[in-house]
Amino acid sequence: MPAERAWIGLGSNLDDPPARLRAALAAIDRLPETRRVATSPFYRTAPLGPADQPDFCNAVTAIDTGLEPPALLDALQAIEAAAGRVRTRRWGPRTLDLDILLYGERRIAEPRLTVPHPRLHERAFVLVPLAALAPDAYVPGRGRVAALAAAVGDDGVEPWEAA
Ligand code: ATP
Ligand code: CA
Ligand code: CA
Repeated sequence: MPAERAWIGLGSNLDDPPARLRAALAAIDRLPETRRVATSPFYRTAPLGPADQPDFCNAVTAIDTGLEPPALLDALQAIEAAAGRVRTRRWGPRTLDLDILLYGERRIAEPRLTVPHPRLHERAFVLVPLAALAPDAYVPGRGRVAALAAAVGDDGVEPWEAA
């Protein structure tokens, strides 16, 4: 099975967020042609956008997958839907958000899929867990994860257990 390494960002701020992330990881483990290779610690992060909502639990997981990017996005959206995600306001509270951060070193610009994730390089809640997992990974057009993480810092990002 030809497989490529991809990195998925996970987030939840409703309905026992770390349990939502653990369930999502178990669902990723059941995807066809896919093996989960490593997962970052879980972090507590301040909400982006509307501030009148609970903190998020965020993490990043690395997979080796034979699913092409559109099929992987379909599969991740099915996992979100099964978690009961309802889309309300932009960047509002959600039970589960799964984003394709990186897919190898591919660049994809399609109506429903942009890779690397277009806001990854400016988000501490993505870069801190990604740097814990893959500091040397290359973000096409942006640079190495460790350098991007250093530039953004870690304000608003703590180990989940610390609060
Ligand atoms: P953000 O993209 O800023 O993190 P969000 O995750 O809240 O915001 P969603 O409502 O989950 O945004 O997704 C909106 C659409 O983004 C999805 O329906 C999907 O088609 C599209 N999309 C584009 N690129 C990606 C990607 N790399 N990973 C996941 N979804 C993507
Ligand atoms: Ca997102
Ligand atoms: Ca998303």
